[in-house]
Amino acid sequence: MFQDENNDAVVVEKEYVDETLVCKDCGQEFVFTAGEQRFYDEKGFLNKPKACKACRDAKKNAGKAPREYFTAVCADCGGEAKITFQPSSDRPVYCSACFEKRKKAQD
Ligand SMILES: [Zn+2]
Ligand SMILES: [Zn+2]
Repeated sequence: MFQDENNDAVVVEKEYVDETLVCKDCGQEFVFTAGEQRFYDEKGFLNKPKACKACRDAKKNAGKAPREYFTAVCADCGGEAKITFQPSSDRPVYCSACFEKRKKAQD
């Protein structure tokens, strides 16, 4: 009977092979790459990802509050200006085009 005398001492590094999984959210196939599998093992994650990266990212972002936009009238061209802050009456608001124009003019 053949017996490898170093049997116990040999630590076989696990071979990672890209694996194709199906996303439970969008139904698309995605690759659980060897690198990701190694990462999961290192972190001690027992479960394979159930969703593709796009869906996971979408979920991550969904947790964040959506950015709120206010609409104001551009003080320059009179067009619609989308701003990320509450417009106040004492400060003129510009649309992005006019804002860029003014910024350039200041240089
Ligand atoms: Zn997906
Ligand atoms: Zn404008």
